[in-house]
Amino acid sequence: MAATTQERPLDLERPIKEIGTDLAARMPRPRLVSTARVEQRMTELLMKDPALRAALFRFVDVRPACATPADLIRHLHEFLADAESKTAQRATGITGRPLARRPLAAVAGAGVKRMAQQFIVGEDAKDALPEITKLWRGGVETTVDLLGEATVSETEADVYMRRCEETLRALAGAATKPGQVNLSVKVSALTPLLRPTAPERGIEGARPRLEHLLRVAKEVGAHLHVDMESFDTREAITALTLDLLSQPEFADGPSAGIVLQAYLVDSPEHLDELLAWAERTPRTHPFVIRLVKGAYWDHEVVQAAQNGWAPPVFTDRRECDRNFEALSRRLIDATPTVKVAIASHNLRSISHAAAYADARGVGNDDLEFQILRGLGDDTQAAIAATGRQVRAYCPVGDLVAGMAYLVRRLLENTANDSFLAAHASGTDTAELLEAP
Ligand SMILES: Cc1cc2nc3c(=O)[nH]c(=O)nc-3n(C[C@H](O)[C@H](O)[C@H](O)COP(=O)(O)OP(=O)(O)OC[C@H]3O[C@@H](n4cnc5c(N)ncnc54)[C@H](O)[C@@H]3O)c2cc1C
Repeated sequence: MAATTQERPLDLERPIKEIGTDLAARMPRPRLVSTARVEQRMTELLMKDPALRAALFRFVDVRPACATPADLIRHLHEFLADAESKTAQRATGITGRPLARRPLAAVAGAGVKRMAQQFIVGEDAKDALPEITKLWRGGVETTVDLLGEATVSETEADVYMRRCEETLRALAGAATKPGQVNLSVKVSALTPLLRPTAPERGIEGARPRLEHLLRVAKEVGAHLHVDMESFDTREAITALTLDLLSQPEFADGPSAGIVLQAYLVDSPEHLDELLAWAERTPRTHPFVIRLVKGAYWDHEVVQAAQNGWAPPVFTDRRECDRNFEALSRRLIDATPTVKVAIASHNLRSISHAAAYADARGVGNDDLEFQILRGLGDDTQAAIAATGRQVRAYCPVGDLVAGMAYLVRRLLENTANDSFLAAHASGTDTAELLEAP
């Protein structure tokens, strides 16, 4: 265990500012004329114009289903025409011209594909290997996430499991050192039965497939990480994961982990449960806890309102961020019983964890930072340059499967109160690093 919490709170603000300013200074500036610059302009435009955003998200959603270029541009034209946005209306002047349709369709189709490719490293494991091994060579670790449609049948769950197994084996074949093979899995993709009304059916449905993947991961020396999904499935996902990892056959491998969502009001109690389990279940590879804020905020708020419940999530951004910091400190204090992954693109959240870990003498063996490929590339490069351990979460899948993922990431990226939006719009670093 690292030193226990001192009576007098540590003064972290100065080191947080130093670490954050250093990281910000290491982030590459956008070049004056480049596709990155064009995309940045596009992001700025989308942030300012919610109607245009909504129109383009609808377009991105239908893009894979468009059979012909004419079909594609007709959809784009209709979505833009429906939008109450001056920019969108101006754009219909172009999309409505018959002669412009064919070239425009090619550009729009390629644009969406290019955007999706920013977030997705390949269509399958083989296709993704060049990009993944490039990251490895650059000192960045990875975790692969296989994208797919919602699993609605046992056959689809079997297909997902087989894709996971193939990916584990393909990565193991390319790995050059231990610890490189790392896969993130979703329990909802391992069974069609994960429903809040009957959690035990979901647990039993996913159990044999997750167990199989744990055996394959152990065989090839991989790490298997179980992602966290919406709140109503948390109990089932946690129970299944901890139950399987309690089996004697998995005590000495594989390395495995789970996710803690700081936007949940009861996340401190969930952490109590995870730490108590880790304490009484000694493992050769420490249990990894990835701390995130949570990706289903809108869903949780809407679902709670529909049912007349109090939302399970914080509704004040600052409270969520303060909780993230409190949980970061508790997790760092719990090393080396657990290994900690701080998964965020927020410079303040990252710098806070780094400053606390430094003060506690906790280094790369027990703590790493994680980012989403495409969203956190600059952050990843800056963290890696300071010698801290960083891992990129790399989605793999075809274009159709990538669309839902792309839309979620775009919404996240351009939401007004997101850190990345504030950063992209040029907010001062000192302000970004202020205590929440
Ligand atoms: C490597 C990696 C793995 C991930 N795995 C998972 C996973 O398994 N499960 C999962 O759920 N998420 C996962 N995420 C996504 C994560 O939960 C966040 O959605 C995302 O990282 C944005 O948070 P941030 O700290 O980067 O950005 P910030 O801009 O600092 O925070 C944005 C987040 O704040 C929260 N928020 C937004 N509005 C409010 C509000 N009004 N009140 C309170 N809170 C609010 C939301 O959680 C939102 O995502 C992962 C992220 C990474 C980087």
